[in-house]
Amino acid sequence: MKRACDVEVRPAKQSIASRYAGKTVVAIGAHPDDLEIGIGGTLAKMQREGAHVVMCVASIPKDYDVRLAEAKRGAEILGCELKILMDGGPQRIEDVKTCDLVGLLDGVIRDYKPAAVLTHSKADFHNDHLLIYNACLPTQRLAYFDFFSYHPTNCRPVPIAFHPNAYVDISDTIDAKMHAITAHGSQFGGRGLDTEMYREFAHVQGRMVGCTYAEGLDVQRMLLV
Ligand SMILES: [Zn+2]
Repeated sequence: MKRACDVEVRPAKQSIASRYAGKTVVAIGAHPDDLEIGIGGTLAKMQREGAHVVMCVASIPKDYDVRLAEAKRGAEILGCELKILMDGGPQRIEDVKTCDLVGLLDGVIRDYKPAAVLTHSKADFHNDHLLIYNACLPTQRLAYFDFFSYHPTNCRPVPIAFHPNAYVDISDTIDAKMHAITAHGSQFGGRGLDTEMYREFAHVQGRMVGCTYAEGLDVQRMLLV
C-alpha cells in the first residue's frame, strides 16, 4: 500500500546486481563485521544475481580464532567468498607500512580482476578504515573498475558526514544482512550491544529513495555506457 510519505520512483530502476552478473566484485573492509554492517545487503544481492563476490578483510586485530569463525559465518550467510588479507594471526593495520598495504591491495586487484571495488569512505572516523580507504585509492591505476565507498561502520551510532549519491535497494536481502551482522556475536551480543539500529538505518535510507530498505554508496568512479 502506498503511503503519503513514500517517494515516487520515476526513473526505471536498474539492478546494480545485474550490472555485475557473471563478474567479480571485491569488497574490502578493515576488520571482520565492517562489510556486513556497511554493505551486507548489497553484497548478498549481487551474489544472488550471479556475481562472484569476494569479501576481503584486511586484518583481525585480536581474538583471532573467534573473529575468524565469525567472519566465515558472516560471509557464508551472504553467500560470498572470504579472504583474510593479513592472515595467520592477530595483526594491526597501522603496524603495516603504507607501501606494503598498497602492495597487498594491488595483489587483490591483480588476482581477482574485479569489475567493482567497494571499500570504506574518507568520511570514516576509524583510523584503520581510513588507512584502507587511502590504500585502495592508488589501486585504481592498475585497471578500470567501478569504485564505491560505503557508509562509515561502527558498533555505536556517532555523527558522521557521509553523503550517499547512489542507493541500492536491499529490501530482499535485509534479513540476510541482519543475520550476517549478528554472526559477529563477540562485537554485539557479547558486549551488550544490539544490532537493530542497522535495520532502522537501512529503513531510513530506503524511505529516501522509495523502497523499504536501502544502503547508500558514494560513487568514486563509475563507467556509464
Ligand atoms: Zn572496522
